[in-house]
Amino acid sequence: MSIVTLDVAVIGGGPAGLAAGLYAARGGARTMIFERQSTGGQIVTTDRVENYPAFPEGVSGAELGERMAAQAAAQGAEIALFNEVTAIKPEGGSFLLETDDAPVRARAVIVATGAVPRKLDIPGEAEYTGRGVSWCATCDGAFYRDRVVAVIGGGDAALEEAIFLTKFARHVYLVHRRHEFRAARVIIDRLQKNSTIEPVLGYVPVEVLGEAESGKVCGLRLRKVADESERTLEVDGVFEFVGTSPISELVADGLVATDERGYIRIDADGATDLPGLFAAGDVTDGTLKQVVTAAGGGAAAGFSALRYLEAL
Ligand code: NAP
Repeated sequence: MSIVTLDVAVIGGGPAGLAAGLYAARGGARTMIFERQSTGGQIVTTDRVENYPAFPEGVSGAELGERMAAQAAAQGAEIALFNEVTAIKPEGGSFLLETDDAPVRARAVIVATGAVPRKLDIPGEAEYTGRGVSWCATCDGAFYRDRVVAVIGGGDAALEEAIFLTKFARHVYLVHRRHEFRAARVIIDRLQKNSTIEPVLGYVPVEVLGEAESGKVCGLRLRKVADESERTLEVDGVFEFVGTSPISELVADGLVATDERGYIRIDADGATDLPGLFAAGDVTDGTLKQVVTAAGGGAAAGFSALRYLEAL
């Protein structure tokens, strides 16, 4: 069987990958977007996106993802769902991609694999994952109607998700290791008006506690940063929002340059240090991790891939 040859293979179907696919396909390149799950990326678990231009009332993350995928497809990008790219091999001026399905060849590749929520790596976290420990308020929040939960973190995600959880929980502790939040001012203002949320500042979580009988979370042990004293919160759920880590295993063996945390280094046009290989979105080393910057990075990478193909 002859191997399919693409002009552009996009790896990842979040905002960055969908925008990259849209630009590459619209520019006339045969483009396929590979996505190991369903399209939309991290935003599909976001209740409301309020800072993506053109939606003055906000838009659900799931709807935004669906619209982006529909637009990429309408411009001719093929979308291969539930098909994971497992290896990228440079071969004679193009790239051989191994996938869950048949291998494909691509003249240019755009890596837009995104990032995953970071874990705290504390005792009890792994044991109670799915039984009270969660990284997704949209997915699991409804299980905590009239319950008490703790949210960990002080960034945009922690504050937004703490506010979202007050739709269900009767009390939300917001545990943050410092006394200042790093979230946007507008979100901090909203948090301060919400009486269901109790900030617990200057503490780090040290252990998730569970009930032997039910096998579910019943508490969170905290340590005060200033003097190492401890306190325990009685909670039914623990939601962690302590940042993200890049999904960059595909290039981890030195295929392209990354920073010390594994984020792919790119120039302003989305190019890596390997000709023909581009990257965009949360897997790259840009500081602003927003849907709009992911889409913008995807557009730049898609456009650059077209220019690269023209010059071959
Ligand atoms: P983030 O901005 O990196 O914040 C992570 C938070 O977790 C920080 O407050 C950090 O504390 C805390 N933290 C990290 N490691 C910890 C540990 N081991 N123990 C206790 N606390 C720990 O991550 P994020 O909120 O997930 O956001 C990721 C990116 O997505 C950001 O660029 C953010 O702007 C973006 N985002 C944007 C929106 C929006 O615009 N609406 C929504 C969600 C996410 P310190 O503050 O002390 O470092």
